[in-house]
This record gives sequence, structure tokens and C-alpha cells, in this order.
Amino acid sequence: MNILVINCGSSSLKYQLINSDTEAVLAKGLCERIGIDGSQITYQPAGGEKEVTVSPMPTHTQAIQLVLDALKNEKTGVIKSLDEVGAVGHRVVHGGENFTASTLLTDEAMKAIEECNDLAPLHNPANLIGIRACQELMPDTPMVAVFDTAFHQTMPEEAYLYGLPYEYYEKYKVRRYGFHGTSHSYVSKRAAEILGKDYNQMKTIVCHLGNGASISAVDGGKSVETSMGLTPLEGLVMGTRSGDIDPAIMEFIAKKENLDITGVMNVLNKKSGVLGISKLSSDFRDLENAVAEGNELAQKALNVFYHRVVKYIGAYIAVMNGVDTIVFTAGLGENDKVMRKTVCANLEYMGIKIDDEANGKRGEEIVISTPDSRVTVMVIPTNEELAIARETLALV
Ligand code: AMP
Repeated sequence: MNILVINCGSSSLKYQLINSDTEAVLAKGLCERIGIDGSQITYQPAGGEKEVTVSPMPTHTQAIQLVLDALKNEKTGVIKSLDEVGAVGHRVVHGGENFTASTLLTDEAMKAIEECNDLAPLHNPANLIGIRACQELMPDTPMVAVFDTAFHQTMPEEAYLYGLPYEYYEKYKVRRYGFHGTSHSYVSKRAAEILGKDYNQMKTIVCHLGNGASISAVDGGKSVETSMGLTPLEGLVMGTRSGDIDPAIMEFIAKKENLDITGVMNVLNKKSGVLGISKLSSDFRDLENAVAEGNELAQKALNVFYHRVVKYIGAYIAVMNGVDTIVFTAGLGENDKVMRKTVCANLEYMGIKIDDEANGKRGEEIVISTPDSRVTVMVIPTNEELAIARETLALV
């Protein structure tokens, strides 16, 4: 069966058509600037050229129509008719406590997702718009929602409750949810498969380090802790997000800089992280190049990032009372050998030893620790689209 995977944001939409029998990507692409002047669609069939077409997309429905037209295009398309799309899998950011697993998109499920809009006001409404647009154009095709939060719903209460008045949890469901769940789940399962170990017996720490970054502790196949919280702002220092800070800093900065709460949140989400410290870039490649030219602020930004990753790994070893496997994934986790080497150098007390040659390789699933390392350290490229396609197949 062919499964269309859709990741819909407020003005952009990523898509992949995946054959669920072979797990091959038949075509993929991106719609950008939906609802804004200058919209364009990128389309790339497997083994073919990438095409970029400027085309008006006033709404998400038009964007998805263009995706479907591209997939069916006589010359470059990969299907003849929409009947060849057996199901659609949608990435949905926040499932709150309503969803502990992926779900078929019934009217009831749509309502329950809508109830979570408050918890992810930038993401969930856009995800819902994408779902509705697909339903309009493919009314008879089954659709599934796969949530970023669902995998972390196994966290115990002591991990997800904040030290806040309990009534905020009762009234508003303020608690830790965690994100990147599809990736944490995919990568931790893949580690067990590659190592030939029983997933239900493993203690794994997954470091999903991209522009957004989070770490999770997966004990016996269940997420028991994760660094992101009610929103994806908590935890690690990220590209532009602050991660953990003393909450009192918010009032302090608001007064000093004459900002309201929206202004402060904007600073914490968009002007902080390694971008904020370095005054240069949120991209680690830029920072590493700058360090090579002697830029001290870039070095400070990297040091703060490394330190926070080490701190969380140490904390999660304590939370699980041990660790067998540490996995690095996502843009930075998969590509940055300097980061992996620096972080692991701080874990030597755990008997962790890194094989420099293996650590230097890129783009493959690989064990980067030495055979005598007490903990296995791996790099596993994440594949959220494939994980969504598998979940979708399982439900339809
Ligand atoms: P993601 O959000 O998973 O797409 O990750 C994107 C981030 O990965 C970029 O902002 C970079 O900071 C980082 N990244 C990608 N490639 C490399 C590389 N070769 N070396 C260092 N960092 C990289």
C-alpha cells in the first residue's frame, strides 16, 4: 500500500509518499509560503530531479491539491490515480493526555485533537487544517494522526508533574508532555533491532539533537523521562530556544528590557539558545567554523550546549538506575562528531569509550563506542516519516 505522510505547519507542508511493502520513498517534497505571496512547491520523485514550481497557494487545500497533482503528473508522477494512495498519515504535535498512541481520524478524534489546541497554539491548529484539507480532497481515504507527545505518555507521575499548585494540572493539564516522540520511539526500537537485544529489557538514552533538541530515557521500551515539557521550550539549550532557565529571569528581563510576556517568550523561543549566546548563528556548522577562526562567543555557545547535554545524560542514568545504550540522532546528533566526542569524553567515568574512526563516519546506523566500552554508543539516523507510515499502516 502507498501511504502519504503529511507534516503540515502554518505556512509550510512537508510530504512523502511511501510504499509500505518495501518502505521505499516514492516521492517527497515541500510546499512553502502557503497563504503568503511567492508560494512554491518542491517535488522530487525517487531517483529523479528535484523540481521547484512557483504556484499560488492561498490555502492548505490548494497546497495539497498541488501535491496530489504532482504525484499524478503524467511525466514525473509516481501514481496514476489517487486510488493508489491507501492511507494518509498526519504528524500532529500535541495529543495532550487524550492520546497515548496514534489514532484513526474519526470525528471524535478530531474533536479531541482540537481540545489540545491551547497546549500547542502554533502547531495543532495548523496540523488540523492539513488534515481537513486532505479529508476534503480524499474523502474516502483513511487517515491517521501520529502524535509527537504520545510515546512519552508512559512517563510516571513524578516525572511529569511540575512543582506547581496541583490545581493547574487538574484545571489546565499543566504537566510535562515531551516531544519528538516519534523519533525517540523509532530510534530506541531500531537500537534494539540493530544490537539484537530485547527492547523490553533495555535502558536507552536517546539524544535527538537538531535545531529543536530533546533527550529521553527509555526503560524497557517505555519513555520514563524527557527533557521537553508542557511545550518544546524546556530542557536543552537549542538553536534559538533557551531550554531550562530560572523562571524568575522572565520577570527580570521583562522589567529591564520593558517587554510584555509575549516579548519575553519571543526572546526565549527565537533569540536565545546557541544563537543568543554566540550572537552569530543557530547552525552548529557556522559556530564550528567560527570557533576555527578564534570566535570566543561561538566556543562559549558550544560549551553551554555540550554541558547541558552531559547534565541530562547524567540525570537520566540516575533516573533509570543505569544505561546500556546511548543513541545520537537528528541533524546535529547524526552529523557532528566533535559534539559526540566532547559529550562522551565526560562520560568516561561510566566506562564509555569512543572509537574515533567509527565516530567519523556519517549518514549510517553505526556503533561508535569501542568493543570494551561498558555502554554502547550509537548513531542512528532518525526517520519520522517512515515511523508515521508504519503507524498508519498498523491502524488501517
Ligand atoms: P534538524 O533540526 O534535525 O534538521 O537539524 C538541523 C541542525 O543540525 C542544523 O541547524 C545544524 O546545526 C545541525 N547540523 C546539520 N549538519 C551538521 C554538520 N555536518 N555538522 C554540524 N552540525 C550539523
